[in-house]
Amino acid sequence: MKIYKIAAIPGDGIGKEVVPAGQKVLEALAAGCRDFAFEFEDFGWGGDYFRAHGAMMPEDGLDALRGKDAILFGSAGDPHIPDHVTLWGLRLKICQGFDQYANVRPTRILPGIDAPLKRCGPDDLNWVIVRENTEGEYAGVGGRAHQGHPIEVATDLSIMTRAGVERIIRFAFRLAQSRPRRQLTVVTKSNAQRHAMVMWDEVAVQVAKEFPDVRWDKELVDAMTARMVNRPSSIDTVVATNLHADILSDLAAALAGSLGIAPTANLDPDRRYPSMFEPIHGSAFDIMGQGLANPVGTFWSCVMLLEHIGEAGAARRLMEAIEIVTATPALHTRDLGGDATTDEVTRAVCRQIAATAR
Ligand code: NAD
Ligand code: MN
Repeated sequence: MKIYKIAAIPGDGIGKEVVPAGQKVLEALAAGCRDFAFEFEDFGWGGDYFRAHGAMMPEDGLDALRGKDAILFGSAGDPHIPDHVTLWGLRLKICQGFDQYANVRPTRILPGIDAPLKRCGPDDLNWVIVRENTEGEYAGVGGRAHQGHPIEVATDLSIMTRAGVERIIRFAFRLAQSRPRRQLTVVTKSNAQRHAMVMWDEVAVQVAKEFPDVRWDKELVDAMTARMVNRPSSIDTVVATNLHADILSDLAAALAGSLGIAPTANLDPDRRYPSMFEPIHGSAFDIMGQGLANPVGTFWSCVMLLEHIGEAGAARRLMEAIEIVTATPALHTRDLGGDATTDEVTRAVCRQIAATAR
């Protein structure tokens, strides 16, 4: 029997509600199964840890994660600590420390979900957005001088390396190639940003030659927002910079019905380090501690985790269970217009999994 070691990092806010829920559905999958089991280790890092120790995670925290098969993450963000401190001190420390350069964000309108686009059928929106996850606008390069004085200056420098651009574009072409439509849109802003974004376009032309069976096109990021709303079925796989794809994927999540549903994988495609799986939403201060959080984004992230560790069958079973539950309006949380609790949705998914045990 294969035993997968999973690090669970709930973090802050509703992360503390949805990660234990994700753990429960993974346990439910393993319960009826003789092939694999999970060994979870919980890490209480985040805002509370910061208040006790002055840091979001221990200095040598990455070492504790290194031997894991995967990381299940909740959210970093505490109402009493500045957002840039919580984000950089935990989530980005792990993403960058483990060189998880491909951030993969699938979007689909799940059964039973009322999505906001009038003219968009459920089959018209089936996208995967690939976000560069280690450099670009979020490289963390920059600084402030003359702080507090009228001549204060502040910079956030966007860093694009050819190696970094090439590996993410190649990853996106490969992913597009594995999907039925074999279609990729490369998003940049190379009209206004005339250096790094022009390099992106050049690298795309170059890498495209390795994938003659993938159709691809280019779109400027502002035009891309309009295309997502007006012509969703013209899109399949998308690759964009760290900032651009961050924004486009929140829009994608909203167009598919709710931020509470959308999943993410922070992958090290080269498998030198553990990859990290998380819902795309944050700590949701407005609903935390009330049992209102939609756990579906975390469950779908668990599907991606299972695919990554090689348990495709279990991944399919979990996705089927999720879709049966979303198709039931009585099991919708408040963000979807219902009044089900986190716990009710979790128990329903676990029941569904038990019903298909084999
Ligand atoms: P958010 O995603 O936390 O919340 C935005 C809105 O969506 C809120 O109204 C919230 O109630 C709702 N929402 C989000 N997830 C939901 C769910 N699962 N179920 C139901 N409703 C849900 O974004 P924000 O308000 O911009 O950020 C709050 C904090 O989270 C900030 O500190 C921010 O830095 C942090 N954050 C962290 C991450 C991360 O760690 N990956 C991502 C985004 C934001
Ligand atoms: Mn974001």
